[in-house]
Amino acid sequence: MTDQENIIIFAEQQRGKIQTISYELLGKGKEIAKKTGAELFAVLLGDQMDEEAKELIYYGADKVFLYQHSSLIDFDLLNYKLNIVNLVQEQKPALLLLGASHLGRSLAPRLAVALKTGLSADCIGLELDDNGNIIQIRPAFSGSILAYIRTKTKPVIATLRYKSSESMERDSSRKGEIINREAEISPSLLTILRKQKSGEINLTEADVVISGGRGLKKADDLSILSGLAEICGGIIGVSRPLVDDGWIGKEHQVGFSGNTVKPKIYIACGISGSSQHLAGMRRSDIIIAINTDPSAPIFKVADYGIVGDLYEIVPKLIGEIKGRTS
Ligand code: FAD
Repeated sequence: MTDQENIIIFAEQQRGKIQTISYELLGKGKEIAKKTGAELFAVLLGDQMDEEAKELIYYGADKVFLYQHSSLIDFDLLNYKLNIVNLVQEQKPALLLLGASHLGRSLAPRLAVALKTGLSADCIGLELDDNGNIIQIRPAFSGSILAYIRTKTKPVIATLRYKSSESMERDSSRKGEIINREAEISPSLLTILRKQKSGEINLTEADVVISGGRGLKKADDLSILSGLAEICGGIIGVSRPLVDDGWIGKEHQVGFSGNTVKPKIYIACGISGSSQHLAGMRRSDIIIAINTDPSAPIFKVADYGIVGDLYEIVPKLIGEIKGRTS
């Protein structure tokens, strides 16, 4: 780490309250920043967080990048990732530090992949070596040894366990800068979430499930399926890779490690039909599969198979259903 390579900590909030882990991260960040002359930044996402943002200054942040939007009140993986990645690419910090909390553990690997860098998860300490490199310390082999990790790519991303670091004393006379940033929000995801907020969906009892898989090219394209779900009164299901990639919540996952569904109609769009996926939907009354590959295993369980591109077929289906029901 060379001089002026700054440090960003992810300030976690729940229900508008900054979590104590964030102050511990500031404590650790400050300890390193003092040695290198770096500045310590915090990134905070939420809504109506102006007062809370000041707390981050009182606990050591030199600058707080504040993103406020009604859809950031609760943790939203896709939009949190989007805005943090943009900030990191702009600020080019040496270190991005997150808490090893439920939320941090979910966010950090996605950030590391998007930023093409490494991640040391569940660290219990961070220190600088004689050359100024950040060394991340974490237990390995069931805690029988401590691993000292040096990441060669930048930024270094690490999650730090609770109580691994002391927060600084709160000092309300500390000065710092709060920089309001316009949050970038994925609009089509918003549309989907408004209808099917976490906890409000009940996939297992749905009569119609419209499911998407890796045949979809990007997260936004889920909106094509939600268009079909809307006119059928259906609910969106997905194969596991889409959940793993953070496109949508796990409550939408169908399969062995997700939900088991038995709707009257199950429409599988761009899903190959792995045994793990079939385990969650093969008992559906009617299965309709849309897939470009005629040899896809999903066709073995389908009552109706359409060999074709979902990007052509689904809009045609929507048009056909609209025409017949209006
Ligand atoms: P793929 O297998 O990659 O298939 C994508 C399909 O889309 C292909 O058949 C392709 O021909 C088709 N396609 C591509 N483009 C288009 C297009 N434009 N139009 C139409 N079709 C197109 N998976 C689950 O789903 N649920 C689970 O609960 C689950 N649990 C698992 C548990 C364990 C322990 C393990 C090891 C795996 C689990 N998996 C689960 C993962 C599973 O093995 C498969 O990797 C996954 O189901 C594949 O998802 P997919 O069908 O979307 O992707």
